[in-house]
Amino acid sequence: MADLPSFRYHPNPVGTGVIVKRLTQCPVRQKHRDYTYEGPFYSTEEVEDICPWCIHDGSAAIRFKGEFQDSASAEEGPPPQALDELIHRTPGYCGWQQERWLAHCNDFCAFLGYVGWKEIEPIIGELQDDIESEGYAMEELKESLLRGGSHQGYLFRCLHCGRHRFVCDLD
Ligand SMILES: [Zn+2]
Ligand SMILES: [Zn+2]
Repeated sequence: MADLPSFRYHPNPVGTGVIVKRLTQCPVRQKHRDYTYEGPFYSTEEVEDICPWCIHDGSAAIRFKGEFQDSASAEEGPPPQALDELIHRTPGYCGWQQERWLAHCNDFCAFLGYVGWKEIEPIIGELQDDIESEGYAMEELKESLLRGGSHQGYLFRCLHCGRHRFVCDLD
């Protein structure tokens, strides 16, 4: 098995579950691959079983004129080439609502994964700005935010300064 490609903005897609080990035929080059993508892909055609290699080299996005992340839901600030890498060459993630991708230091952040209160409590100080600007109620986060739950958080980390950022939504 070839090593999985690495994705700057989504460093552990196997850990977050959008890339799974399953033998499939990737529709981009009709090659059999032992890993496949199970996250969002926005294209006019219904496309399944894209392999991580065809995400990484951009060929899946070109072949099906698709995006792995809605560009309108990516935070503003990063330069066009960063947006291009994010939406065309990075595995997305699965939120309950339209997935948002956060940015910091003029670049997109790395998506670390799905989180609940337990996971964010130790870094809550770093997330204070996001919690305030989004108007999240701290009591609600404490009570109901759960990884895999119907009130779920999405944790990001700046690739440059290391700061964590956070959004959450409801099913
Ligand atoms: Zn492929
Ligand atoms: Zn930063």
